[in-house]
Amino acid sequence: MPVLAQGKVIPVRTQSKFCDTSKHRGTAGTVTVFVLLLLDKPVSLLIYTGPDGEKAWPKKYPFCGGVFQSPIDFHKDILQYDSNLLPLEFVGYNVPSTDQFTLTNNGHSVKMYLSPTMYIRNLPFEYAASQLHLHWGNRNKSEGSEHTIGGKHFAAELHIVHYNSEKYPDITAAMDKADGLAVLAILLEIGPFNPTYEKIFRHFRNVKYKDQMALVPGFNIQELLPNRLDEYYRYEGSLTTPPCYPSVLWTVFRHPVKISQEQLRALETAMYCTESDDPEPLEMVDNFRHVQKFDERLVFISFHEGKLHEQTVSSLLFSVDPRAKLISGMTAALSISHWSFLSAITLVSWQLCKLSQDILKGILPL
Ligand SMILES: [Zn+2]
Repeated sequence: MPVLAQGKVIPVRTQSKFCDTSKHRGTAGTVTVFVLLLLDKPVSLLIYTGPDGEKAWPKKYPFCGGVFQSPIDFHKDILQYDSNLLPLEFVGYNVPSTDQFTLTNNGHSVKMYLSPTMYIRNLPFEYAASQLHLHWGNRNKSEGSEHTIGGKHFAAELHIVHYNSEKYPDITAAMDKADGLAVLAILLEIGPFNPTYEKIFRHFRNVKYKDQMALVPGFNIQELLPNRLDEYYRYEGSLTTPPCYPSVLWTVFRHPVKISQEQLRALETAMYCTESDDPEPLEMVDNFRHVQKFDERLVFISFHEGKLHEQTVSSLLFSVDPRAKLISGMTAALSISHWSFLSAITLVSWQLCKLSQDILKGILPL
């Protein structure tokens, strides 16, 4: 299966290790894909390993090599208890079975669209639901979560994506704004059979191939979350797929949810990145991004656990001169090749905007 690398089609096929979801054999296909890249559409070619894998994402999507990236590892040196973190409240999450969700295979995950009548309270803004999707490993290595805790992967991870509906009309308008998105992350591990997850998983056979769709009767989406909604990690990060906009307020629940071994196996084996008529089907496996550098950020936690770092929040933030941070960020951005110059400018503007916000909030010294 060829994939496009900087305008060229090169033959790449690794065993069950990536998702290449586009039809782009021959000249016409190449042109189509190249035009899509020039238009900077959401990624239509998504691969996690190999020469065009996640390490190469910044070449086409500069934000992927920029600041505030996700996922991350939660380890005690970066955790800071925050008593202001309230349990989230979910409105409209209990959807009657007479309503239906659309489930689809988008070529790199299985995604279920949600209604904006569902929204979250107890965040800085009201965030309306957009979709949920999953990340997972493979049948031989069930370590497919994106976030890790103390370096430990979980079997899989569910993301429920919301957008700031107080400020933006839809997710498209919100996704590249600093306060645009809020994502809930639920870590999955092996345990007893989970009847709520089965309400989605039982439809996998109908979305086996890219672009297939199925209808899922409504149910209470809150039942996909852990019982303990009061204990979570909170930080500012990014989309974990290109274009990796640093626009996500993450809430990663501390307590994993259990699904059975058989359910996990279904997730790891049911779907393909390719369309049903593709002569070279590719299994959809290992669709998780590896953890990113965390630098001088902090993760706020709503619970007391372990020994907190001796430094206070302010001493950590003040330990790095913000002007040095900005200059370093600008240098990195401007070193990106000329064809992505406009994106680099966007990145610098983003950093300036974030810095000015921080100064206004009084977080950073002038
Ligand atoms: Zn995700």
